[in-house]
Amino acid sequence: MAELKDDKGSDLEKKLSYKAEFAWSKFSDEQKKAARNFVLDYMVFLGEARTERERVTFAERVAQGKGFKRIEIGQEANQLKPGDKVYYINRGKNIALFIVGEKPMTEGTRFIGAHMDYPRLDLKIRPVYEKDGFALFKTHYYGGLKKYQFATVPLALTGIVVKKDGTQVLVNIGHEPDDPVFTVPDLLIHLARNYQGDRKMADVLKAEEMNALAGALQNEDEKAKERFKLNILSILNEKYGITEEDLHSAELSLVPTIAPRFVGLDKSMVGGAGQDDGSCSYLALRAVLDLNNGIPAFTVGTGLFDKEETGSNGPTGAQSSWFRQIFIDLLSRSGVKGSLTNMHVAMSSMKMISADVTAALDPSFGSVHDSQTAAIAGKGVVIEKYSGSGGKYGTNDATAEYVGFVRGVFDARKVPFQYGTLGQVDAGGGGTIAMFFSQAFNCDVVDCGVPLLNMHSPFEIAHIADLYSGYLAYSAFFTSK
Ligand code: MN
Ligand code: MN
Repeated sequence: MAELKDDKGSDLEKKLSYKAEFAWSKFSDEQKKAARNFVLDYMVFLGEARTERERVTFAERVAQGKGFKRIEIGQEANQLKPGDKVYYINRGKNIALFIVGEKPMTEGTRFIGAHMDYPRLDLKIRPVYEKDGFALFKTHYYGGLKKYQFATVPLALTGIVVKKDGTQVLVNIGHEPDDPVFTVPDLLIHLARNYQGDRKMADVLKAEEMNALAGALQNEDEKAKERFKLNILSILNEKYGITEEDLHSAELSLVPTIAPRFVGLDKSMVGGAGQDDGSCSYLALRAVLDLNNGIPAFTVGTGLFDKEETGSNGPTGAQSSWFRQIFIDLLSRSGVKGSLTNMHVAMSSMKMISADVTAALDPSFGSVHDSQTAAIAGKGVVIEKYSGSGGKYGTNDATAEYVGFVRGVFDARKVPFQYGTLGQVDAGGGGTIAMFFSQAFNCDVVDCGVPLLNMHSPFEIAHIADLYSGYLAYSAFFTSK
């Protein structure tokens, strides 16, 4: 990528050394305008779709608007032809969208995977109880979070209750302006000094103290033993026709209701919940939906997964064989002769980007980062060769060859990007879905995503230049040769 003209440093230095530049100043006026519009669309998604289920619904709606057709594994196994747009959905929590390419999948596929779940408070299986004049919901935190950050903020209740006859009841309370919200109370500072003062970070609020206010009025039934609890059960029954036992077959979560907002006088950043990994999910979704250059050379796809924050387990996590099943289904519909060898050739020749966020260097906590390798907010989407922790444990570690390929692709399309790692060695670490695909498919995968501040908090921060750069990067990847 061409360097910005500046007078600092010698010519030889400029020729030989590498320095990532801030991306915004590299965009043309037209690109800046496009970036601003893109970010506005992104903020609608972020505010509207907050759980994996809501995000699948959102993705399906926009995909249908772009002419994508839903197919099911093995059903009406009609042949597909180059240019056909299809998608698969798994249990309402995964969606994968493909555009069939000119070349057979045995020659390669371009796939981007991201995750749509994010840290939140799930309701326990029997959540409602009463104490000291309140009805409360017991919660069980999901994913890695600083629990105290999810107290004293407004939370919406969202999810699904399934009755024993199979009836599905969708619950969504707290997103509309006149909806009530919920909140986990924290102890007032006046009484907290001794009680909480010496607690460590993870226990400032302990897991069993993460109880959300559900109500504070007694039911009119004076004979009832627990009138506060009964009042909540009675409202739920009136609104949704459910009883306390129905809550055992439910997935209900409390998620921050804070609406996405621009941050900074220059509106250079977006603040909002669920940008890990809603940001990369949305960019990857748009990259496939907006691919308008006729028929792509290779079959391209975006897959959006669940359960990343808890280890990618279960049928809807990235370790599930669902993706392998739809990959093979697509392979057989797209004219490749069914044989194990063809399947293996197609799997191992897939090229993938694991689109997940990484840490942006935090200006107030520089000591946990390595300033030489940390991603800087505003310098573009980040290629992260490896993640993991300690001595590179649990890392996918993309090959040098593949990182070389990807940087070539981005450079050729003048995408501003940077390279980065998550933090200082031994400071901590993290993983993504990258390794599950590289292992199951024996294919090349590299992590590449948006750097965030406040990751896993109710108000994560992404730079608008990084969001748009990510969109350009994923779009370039889809048309790579
Ligand atoms: Mn995460
Ligand atoms: Mn993530």
